[in-house]
Amino acid sequence: MSAYPNVRFLISANRREQFVTDIGAEVAVAGRSNAGKSTAINALTQRKSLAKTSKRPGATRLINFFELEPDRRLVDLPGYGYAAVTGEMRRHWGQLVEAYFESRRSLKGVIVVMDIRHPMTPYDLDMLGLAQGRDVPVHVLLTKADKLGRGAIQQTLATVRRELGSAAGVHAFSAHSGLGVGEARGRLDAWLAGRQRAEERVPEKETPAGPAEPAGED
Ligand code: GDP
Repeated sequence: MSAYPNVRFLISANRREQFVTDIGAEVAVAGRSNAGKSTAINALTQRKSLAKTSKRPGATRLINFFELEPDRRLVDLPGYGYAAVTGEMRRHWGQLVEAYFESRRSLKGVIVVMDIRHPMTPYDLDMLGLAQGRDVPVHVLLTKADKLGRGAIQQTLATVRRELGSAAGVHAFSAHSGLGVGEARGRLDAWLAGRQRAEERVPEKETPAGPAEPAGED
């Protein structure tokens, strides 16, 4: 049973003006094209094809908003790092994603998916930088872990953990085997509910501590 039985697609935004109303809580998911982001979103929401898995890598340049429950959203950021995109598309990607990070007060956490066989590329580091600019917790999912043996998983985890330091949490994930799916779902739920573990709490600008912010000005 899904924790979010009424999950639904809201909108694909191509411009800041199309972003959904900025109230409640949302978690963004980012990653290189083909890293397994759509598959991870489908696994997290227990839907087969909520997010479209890519036939053409790099095709999606839009921000997709999904409603998990009223005022709780999952936001699928466009995949990055696909070599064939034009300079114009790359510029548009940058502007759209920067507009997202600059403007969203309801952003409570960022999940960055990386193929466990190719983690921490320069593109990923750029994305981590963008996310960290917002003072929200970041968690890395090392996807397609079923492609590696247990020893190699542990080794990659240790390397990535060392490189990330205290900047982000990380765990291994496989939509195919189910490894780490429950843990990722727990993280998502906690962020959306306004809970964070003490060790990952970073200074926040907003003062309210509770999960629900008063709907009001701004
Ligand atoms: P996106 O571009 O990041 O959204 O990537 P997709 O979710 O479309 O996945 C890219 C490719 O990786 C597809 O062929 C998926 O079937 C494959 N893939 C995604 N997740 C996994 C996984 O956990 N294990 C394996 N073995 N393949 C995966």
